[in-house]
Amino acid sequence: MASEQEAESFDVLIIGCGMAGLAAGIRLATFDQKVLIVEKHNAPGGLNSFYFQRGRKFDVGLHAVTNFSSGRGRRTPLQKLLRQLRLPPESFALSPQNGSRIAFPGRDLRFANDISLLESEVAREFPGEVDGFRALRQAVLDFDALDLEKEGPGAREVVGRYIADPVLRDMLFCPLMYYGSSTEHDMPFTQFVTLWRAIFEEGFGRPLEGVRVVIRALLARYRELGGKRRMRCGVRRIVQDGRRVQAVELESGETVTARRIISTIGWPETLLLCGREETDEEIERCTGALSFAEGITVSDRQPAEMGCGETIIFYNDSERFAYEGAQNPIDLRSGVICFPNNYRYPDGGQLPEGLLRVTSIASYPYWTSLEEEAYRREKAAWFPRMQESALRFLPGMKAESLREATVHTDMFTPRTIRHFTSHLGGAVYGSPVKMRTGETFLDNLYLAGTDQGFLGIIGAMLSGVSMANRHVLSKLAGSG
Ligand SMILES: Cc1cc2nc3c(=O)[nH]c(=O)nc-3n(C[C@H](O)[C@H](O)[C@H](O)COP(=O)(O)OP(=O)(O)OC[C@H]3O[C@@H](n4cnc5c(N)ncnc54)[C@H](O)[C@@H]3O)c2cc1C
Repeated sequence: MASEQEAESFDVLIIGCGMAGLAAGIRLATFDQKVLIVEKHNAPGGLNSFYFQRGRKFDVGLHAVTNFSSGRGRRTPLQKLLRQLRLPPESFALSPQNGSRIAFPGRDLRFANDISLLESEVAREFPGEVDGFRALRQAVLDFDALDLEKEGPGAREVVGRYIADPVLRDMLFCPLMYYGSSTEHDMPFTQFVTLWRAIFEEGFGRPLEGVRVVIRALLARYRELGGKRRMRCGVRRIVQDGRRVQAVELESGETVTARRIISTIGWPETLLLCGREETDEEIERCTGALSFAEGITVSDRQPAEMGCGETIIFYNDSERFAYEGAQNPIDLRSGVICFPNNYRYPDGGQLPEGLLRVTSIASYPYWTSLEEEAYRREKAAWFPRMQESALRFLPGMKAESLREATVHTDMFTPRTIRHFTSHLGGAVYGSPVKMRTGETFLDNLYLAGTDQGFLGIIGAMLSGVSMANRHVLSKLAGSG
């Protein structure tokens, strides 16, 4: 370890410059904490970053910013978040979705940023279930998902009390699972509530320029407050002394000390940095089984010109919906289609090219076992299969028109996710075991972000803010 003289010291060191790390950093710097964010990669944003390819800008994964809520009410999570970050209400420049759909064999449920559409769709497709749907909704609205001490029962059990038809149950679970579940088949009711509100009650929005707008707003605020950030600066080891973190050793060999450490890199990933052998089993138990592949098609025509005006379509081709680790390289039975063009951008604004994103569950062991050449070959073979599978749920879009209009394609797999985010198992939603209070076995090490249990971009930022409040700011007076 470096000597005391060499080590620079901070009030709080944050590991990871994703949404949670940036939000925690802003919150702490607002209250004059001396903060350093260290990030392994050169780009900020973590799981939701962006990249350039052949002159085009792509979001890593952004389909939608959830919790849109069209600015209604100051008490929505998004408005609360922006207030905590002292950012103006319009900072993320979100435009509302056109409308989305859950598509199962012979059944469709449309929904938008106002739950009344979903309720009327349930009444149309499942007339006998609409009272149960309303009662379930009330149970969701009455539930305090922010109580960090409360685990709650399994969501399948609770939903089963209100909805008798298993197909409707699966249709409601499908978007919520795809946009946030780290567990197969079921999720804790607390997460179901969070996701229901984020997706069905508050809905989807997107900035015309994509996730860059969100990242830029966060970076500018953090800089303005004097927060420090070091990129390409991975943490190699968390050095401990009894029940405390003594220092953090960087990949360069340098050490940094801080009174408190907030890790946003995931729980099993943090355990690995702690390097304790007895935690091997815990790492295995906490490594998520769900990873994804996505195929991106760029076209010289807008999706609406090819017969698709919807924003997001969650599809499933079987009677029952199976949300589980993929047995095949890619599980083609279900997936998510997203058209980033299909938002109501201001002043008739629009993306210059058409974009179609198709996401499905994919096998991490398969995609990470391939040699380079086989990997490329398999990607080329699976891309059209994914697209073909998705087109079954887009009756307006003809495969031939899409082929003619295609000017570029790209695809990422679980291997890409692991490479760029360091998440074990390429697990987008992290560990199946969430650490809701953010506390760890070390007194001054806390967890924020995906593995604390708040999901998606907005959830990750809320997690960063609430962990900063709970474990640092609320203790300031007492700790001196
Ligand atoms: C393909 C894809 C599509 C998605 N689509 C959406 C969407 O449409 N809407 C939505 O709301 N959410 C979406 N998400 C989820 C959302 O991106 C995440 O929930 C959120 O960004 C998680 O943020 P985080 O800060 O908790 O973690 P992360 O983003 O994982 O940030 C952790 C950071 O830590 C860094 N790091 C890791 N190890 C180290 C180390 N040893 N030292 C230093 N730094 C380290 C990583 O590089 C990373 O930058 C998507 C995710 C993916 C992958």
